[in-house]
Amino acid sequence: MKNKIKVRASASIANISCGFDCLGLSIKEPYDEVTLEFNNSKKLSITVSGKKSSLIPVNPEKNTAGKAILSFLHSIGEKKGLNIHIKKGIPPGSGIGSSASSAAAAVFGINELFGNPYKLEKLIFHGMAGEEVASGSFHADNIAPAILGGIRLIRSYEPLEILNLPIPKKLMCVVVLPDFSINTYDARNMLPKRVPLKSAVEQAGNLAGFTIALYQENYELMQRSMVDLFAEPVRGKLIPGYKKIQNLLKKENVIGCGISGSGPAIFALANDIDVSKKIKTLIINEFKKIGIDSIGYISKVQTLPPQII
Ligand code: ADP
Repeated sequence: MKNKIKVRASASIANISCGFDCLGLSIKEPYDEVTLEFNNSKKLSITVSGKKSSLIPVNPEKNTAGKAILSFLHSIGEKKGLNIHIKKGIPPGSGIGSSASSAAAAVFGINELFGNPYKLEKLIFHGMAGEEVASGSFHADNIAPAILGGIRLIRSYEPLEILNLPIPKKLMCVVVLPDFSINTYDARNMLPKRVPLKSAVEQAGNLAGFTIALYQENYELMQRSMVDLFAEPVRGKLIPGYKKIQNLLKKENVIGCGISGSGPAIFALANDIDVSKKIKTLIINEFKKIGIDSIGYISKVQTLPPQII
């Protein structure tokens, strides 16, 4: 049995406009790195470095990586002690699955250390136990793509059923992270408890349209389908300049754009590298005009699960 492992897991874009809580996509950058090493105690000891690491709880019950590992150990009936070091490449509260990335790297790593008792799909449950401590809800739209890679549709939570969607060849993802945080827990609480039937029907139509567009590599259909009637109307107000940025992006050749997860990261999909570079700069400049620093990434969909490094 190996004693030590270091794993990298990617950021992810959840919701993708029309797939609130049920659609997620893994991107190559940024990522977290998690190192696990057995110790002689029966306890987990967590240290954190990197982006906004002071905001991350080191209590294993409150840390997504710690909780995911506790859930894993409980399920295999082991009480091992571990030193866990999390190097944050993804700032917490950014909206691109910072909490999920740590949990994904942690469960992938612990599964490896124990000789892979679980298939990747089975690790999602433990990753979700981690996610629950960060957001207060048992959701998989970041953790599923972070563990499995690709574009994933959560068709059902009870029982958990995760479907793999095809990735159009030219698809590129742009994400820009303004330098402030939105807590997923708070962003979730502000959502309406009920939505009008008309909105629910429209959202269902758009999600189906988006799914078909991926199969057909039909970027026009994808563009028409990327509308968010549930979260964006309330969460958009939390991001200064959001409406203006969205209107500017619509004039460029983007496939679609929206709020990644619960924000404040803004994402856009494109099918051309020059368009991607242009919109990344455009978003960064718009934030700069209102005094907000931001950082942007352009990436293809990450098709791989977490990587041992
Ligand atoms: P994001 O969408 O960027 O993951 P969340 O709000 O879902 O943002 O997650 C950030 C919250 O989760 C913060 O309150 C943070 O303190 C908590 N958290 C607990 N463990 C971790 C971790 N290992 N990495 C990032 N955030 C964590």
